[in-house]
Amino acid sequence: MTAPVRERAALDPEVVAIAADRAAAYRDAGLWRQELVSDLVLDRCRAQPDRCAVVDGDRRMTYAELARAVHEAAGRLRTLGIAPGDRVCVQLPNCLEYVVLVLALQHVGAPPVLILPAFREHELNHIVSVTRPVALAVDSGTRRFDQHGLARTLRDRHPGLRHLLVRGADRLAEGETDLAQLCRPGPGGTAPGTRRTGAAAAGAAPHDAAVFLLSGGTTGLPKAIPRTHEGYGYMIRTAVGIAGITSKSVTLAVMPAAHGFVMNCPGVLGTLIAGGRVVLANPNSPAGAFELIERERVTHCTLVPTLMLQWLAAAPGSGADLSSLEVIQVGGARPGAEAAARVRTELGATLQQCYGMSEGLLCFTRLDDLDETVHTTQGSAASAADEFRVVGADGRPVAQGEMGELLTRGPYTVAGYYRNPEATAAAFTPDGFYRTGDLVRLDPVGNVVLEGRVRDSINRGGEKISAEELESIAQRHPRIVQAAGVAMAHELYGEAVCLYAVLDGGGPLGLRELRRFLEQQGLAAFKFPERLEIVDALPLTGIGKIDKKALREDIAGRLAAGTP
Ligand code: AMP
Repeated sequence: MTAPVRERAALDPEVVAIAADRAAAYRDAGLWRQELVSDLVLDRCRAQPDRCAVVDGDRRMTYAELARAVHEAAGRLRTLGIAPGDRVCVQLPNCLEYVVLVLALQHVGAPPVLILPAFREHELNHIVSVTRPVALAVDSGTRRFDQHGLARTLRDRHPGLRHLLVRGADRLAEGETDLAQLCRPGPGGTAPGTRRTGAAAAGAAPHDAAVFLLSGGTTGLPKAIPRTHEGYGYMIRTAVGIAGITSKSVTLAVMPAAHGFVMNCPGVLGTLIAGGRVVLANPNSPAGAFELIERERVTHCTLVPTLMLQWLAAAPGSGADLSSLEVIQVGGARPGAEAAARVRTELGATLQQCYGMSEGLLCFTRLDDLDETVHTTQGSAASAADEFRVVGADGRPVAQGEMGELLTRGPYTVAGYYRNPEATAAAFTPDGFYRTGDLVRLDPVGNVVLEGRVRDSINRGGEKISAEELESIAQRHPRIVQAAGVAMAHELYGEAVCLYAVLDGGGPLGLRELRRFLEQQGLAAFKFPERLEIVDALPLTGIGKIDKKALREDIAGRLAAGTP
């Protein structure tokens, strides 16, 4: 069958398209369909209007209410002047409004840019500069962080940013809209069944961006990654099958839904597409999550290894009934094999290891894999159409089973970053393979084992920290002449940052003072160093670069010797 002819060019010409021959092949093979991600959910709403779709604390929304809310919100967004081809930055905690807003924006054709709640001025300013949104959706904030105030500062600084959509504010100024009001379903009205879905009703087409995810930021500030409906929809549908999500599934989101892992692997969107129930929460302890598992009979949950360890430690004494748990997905960082084995024995669930990246590729261990595979590998590619190359430092393929950098391309891995041709040229090969920066081995049946990274980044419990970014901000401190950040082993996070610093000789500098300075610089707190080592000089390699390997060995030695 020939692929359907595209009706029009992409809304946003700056979204780098996958090469035409591969795109045609994905369409011909039926992997890419003429579908919008928001419509996949809205179709479900028509099919099962009375089932519960989303739970947020005491608030529950049926599929019919969700459809009404999405259509109403889409209408209100259009009234605000938000149009197909615009972008809207979204920095919200897990809540009902988040889900409604994301789907409504997709329906309008103004893709959301999903921003981690932990990001602060430094990151936000950059993301707004790159994605040039017309609106920014935020929470009013907490006593420690005036998110609303920061949103206003950003609006003043970026003239294209016209609207603020604010959740939970006491008072709103001109150009600001109450997000809860915007996302309210309204009183009945047109039944969802009579609404038009599909590209004709929506502002987007399948080859337009459904969402922008942000890169883990291995080199400098986060990069924006536009994911098109056709690739993103295919990935989510595929992940639904691999994770065993059905209309009976109940998925608990405890980590921020701005993580692709939580939103789309298959996560929140996959569960809604399958007709299951999504429970949204922001618990600050395993106990809070356990309470919800018991109350909602949760079947699926996604965790980073750090949270997995916390759950394993808390479960035995909690008295909570966790018997409904079927699958716990663990990813973002590599869990230890011993702890991985305890997921079944102590939490009663099947562990599914997940490895992937915001740029696309997803790997999963399968639910019927042997324990050995599940405990010691990060799984195999989600799609038979995912292509792998494992290459050595010289760029040539290594022998089967040898370690090398993983390069990948496929039906849902993007072809480039948004408005960043330099980063695109550096991260993608001319024939469209993404250089993951991950050092892997492939076992004989194609399971990936993560061995390390090529690039200079620190994976703190799943959150990626660019050493380069941290160093450049630390060096703004008037006392720091030179700084170098490296990963050190950490009991809870797996890895954390140790910052080596050379001072100007004018007195000591403590870790607490440095962290306070980084906070003043508007840097997200998860990037702060856990340890500061003051040195007279940084070691250099033969060609005069800072010798990070020597620093990693130094800190490992100090930790082993128990040096405070
Ligand atoms: P992000 O785009 O923020 O999801 O980060 C993607 C990166 O996270 C990958 O390139 C890996 O370096 C790392 N990562 C993701 N999943 C795993 C995993 N299961 N084990 C080890 N590292 C992982």
